[in-house]
This record gives sequence, C-alpha cells and structure tokens, in this order.
Amino acid sequence: MAGYEPGEQPQQDGFIKLNTNENPYRCSPAVGQAVEEALRSGLQKYPDPVAQAFRAKAAEVLGVDPDWILCGNGSDDILTIVTRAFVGAGQLVRLPYPSYVLYKTLAQIQGARSEEVGFERDWTLPDRFGQGDGDLRLVFLANPNSPSGTVIPPERVLELAERLPCPLLVDEAYADFAETDCLGLVAQNEKILVSRSLSKSYALAGVRFGFLVAQPQLIRHLLKVKDSYNCDTLAIAAATAAIGDQEWLAATRARILATRRRLTERIGELGFHTVESQANFTWNVHPERPARQLYEGLKRKRILVRYMDYPGWGDGLRITVGSDDQVDACLEGLEELI
Ligand SMILES: *Cc1c(COP(=O)(O)O)cnc(C)c1O
Repeated sequence: MAGYEPGEQPQQDGFIKLNTNENPYRCSPAVGQAVEEALRSGLQKYPDPVAQAFRAKAAEVLGVDPDWILCGNGSDDILTIVTRAFVGAGQLVRLPYPSYVLYKTLAQIQGARSEEVGFERDWTLPDRFGQGDGDLRLVFLANPNSPSGTVIPPERVLELAERLPCPLLVDEAYADFAETDCLGLVAQNEKILVSRSLSKSYALAGVRFGFLVAQPQLIRHLLKVKDSYNCDTLAIAAATAAIGDQEWLAATRARILATRRRLTERIGELGFHTVESQANFTWNVHPERPARQLYEGLKRKRILVRYMDYPGWGDGLRITVGSDDQVDACLEGLEELI
C-alpha cells in the first residue's frame, strides 16, 4: 500500500505555512498554565486511561454526558479506533470523494475494501451515499469537507444515516468554523458518531488531542480497541484547559472568519473559482493557470499552500486561513504569478 502522505512540515523557519490548516494564533493562555501544573505534579505515573478530566469538561461545554465521549491522540487516532472496531478484512468502507485521503488508508490497513461515492459538482451528496447492504460496515463523512470547506446540512446527514446499515462517522475536525454541526444527531440515531479535533480551532496541532461523541453503549466497546494509555498526561491537561476556555475559542473563531471573508473575496478578484467555505481554508481553482505551477511559484516565494490533485475531479489549491498578514502575502504572491 502507498501510505498516507500528510502536508509538508518544513523543519526550517521562514515559510508562511498555509498548507495544513493550522491555526495562526497561539492557543489559550490557560493551556500553558495547565501544562506547567501537570509538570509540577510529575510525570512518573501513567495517565488516566479514559482522560476523565477532559470528558467531564467537554461534557459540560457540549451538553452531553461524559460517558458519551471517547478521547484520542488526535482525531486521527479516533478514526483509527473506529475503523478497527467496525471493519474487518474484506468488508466494505464508504468514503466521499474528493475528501480526506486518510480514510482510504485506514480501510487498507484493515485489509478492507473501500468504495468512493463522488460529491456532485455543487458539493452535495447523492442518495446513493446513504444506501447499502450488510457488507457495508462503516461510512466516513468529513463535514465540513476537505478540500471544499462545504457542509452537508444536519437534516440531510440524518436522512442519509437513517437508511444506512452501519455507523456513519461524521468527521467534524472543522465544525467550530461552521454554522451548523451534527452533535445533536448523536442522541437521535446511534449510528451517528461525531469526531472532533483540538488541532485546528483550538490551535493545538502540536499536542495531539481529539475526541468522539457517540452513544455510551458504543463508547464502551470502542474503549476496548484503543491503546490503554492513548492520551498522555500533558495532552490531557492541555486539552482540558483549551476546551474550558470558550471565550478564547469565540474570539479566535471571529478573527479567522473575518480573514476567511477577505480571502474569499480577494481570491475571486484574481479570477479563481472558489466555494463558500465553512472551514478555516478555501478551495480554489483558476480557469487558466495550472494549479501545480501556482503552488510551485508560491513555494519559491516560501509560501506553502496545499496542492491537491483528485483523479477524475481535477486539481486545485487548498489555502489555509492564516493571519491577515500571511493571507495578504499569499494573495500578493498569487497576483504576481498570475
Ligand atoms: C486535520 C484533520 C483531521 C485530523 O486531526 P487531528 O486531530 O490533528 O488528528 C481529521 N479529519 C480531517 C478532515 C482533518 O482535516
């Protein structure tokens, strides 16, 4: 198998990084304090296997019970646990296309088959996405989707899930930037599982923490599949402090959405076709300039964006909503190249 290739992480300084949807701002100051406190208490003991402190705080913020929450070493760990729990060799996993490429890799690791169901050109999903027989064991849906930043409305997600013979994992890594989310659906239908990440909206990609919200009878079984100590003491402290600071989240979200509006407008003026994004990135296709050349031109200017090529769909540039200065530098770079 080919293996998943994450976006470039240059180890030298001096790049404007708009390629992996990191938050341009520093995390809540509460995170530093919590990590220092955890260090003072010492690291000689194993962490709490279920990260109860985080579960309790997240439960309070999200309005669910703590036993509806499963913590992971990044939401990628959550996706791995869910795939391992539900999918065996030879069975079928369904993925939307184009979307997050990791889902296919996770299916391959299980020795499972995967089936891609294409988005329509307007980034809606066909009814076929919600149909299947007993062979189908798990369906992934990134919502908001990457690379488009578009959202399938919760009513439609529920409609699709209701007809499915298997769980639907709604990957909400970007939901904090969107207008709607599917958290409320979890209580309505046990087939709906929602994963969240602290990496993007909470500016903690370096920490590795994500979680799943699902009905407790499922969480109980998923706990059997995870590594015993999948989240470390420092990460639990950091994530608990971060989700506890909703004021920081609201302020940071507002800044990023304001920059997203500017980026969307100005990139349109440069002649790009772009879709209205509900995430912290936009997907951009220029009708005349090849995306790969633009990507390479920007890289020579030490600006990294994500070049994506989806066979049968086309290629384009996924640009992270960084700070205003970063986005301006990227727009100026593109203007020169065009
Ligand atoms: C970034 C991303 C993730 C992974 O998030 P981590 O919590 O950092 O593992 C999951 N799904 C999608 C669609 C993402 O873009």
